[in-house]
Amino acid sequence: MPSSVSAFIGLGSNLSDPPQQVRRAIDKIQHLDCCSLEQCSSLYETPPMGPQDQPNYINAVVKIKTSLSPYELLGTLQCLENQQGRTRDKGRWGARTLDLDILLYDTLVSQDPTLTLPHPGLPFRSFVLYPLFEIDKNLNIPTFGAIQTLLERLEDEPPKVVR
Ligand code: ATP
Ligand code: MG
Ligand code: MG
Repeated sequence: MPSSVSAFIGLGSNLSDPPQQVRRAIDKIQHLDCCSLEQCSSLYETPPMGPQDQPNYINAVVKIKTSLSPYELLGTLQCLENQQGRTRDKGRWGARTLDLDILLYDTLVSQDPTLTLPHPGLPFRSFVLYPLFEIDKNLNIPTFGAIQTLLERLEDEPPKVVR
């Protein structure tokens, strides 16, 4: 792959067999032409954010190398969400078959609402920080700092690893 960069993707699902949705999405990412899968976290079970009348989530993080531009990667991930039946009819943070967020794209910082990098929820979400930490304990996140410090600030319980 010509001139590839590292990116981290956060996966989440709480509908239609969530562990299977997450595993299937990882498999699809692995087989994308312009991406290679570098590392994969465990699957975690976490309570929902926002509306509480929805099932728990299964979350994971993967590290990839990609030759796609940030916006090409976003478009590609949105296609995978759609292929797995993602609908956007349940309001903000409503239940979904698949959510694929770009957490980090190399060291890029972007304030564009269409693609904000690092992902703005990253420093506050245990379901993102724990799987990221599992992959890279020394990760330094542009503008937010060391992952270890972010984890120390979290008040949530660690998410449950799915065996
Ligand atoms: P959150 O982003 O708080 O986790 P969400 O994942 O449920 O919420 P979506 O409905 O999946 O939100 O996406 C809403 C919009 O967020 C998308 O149309 C996309 O353009 C934008 N967006 C901004 N930054 C990012 C990013 N880093 N990764 C993915 N989508 C992003
Ligand atoms: Mg999200
Ligand atoms: Mg999203």
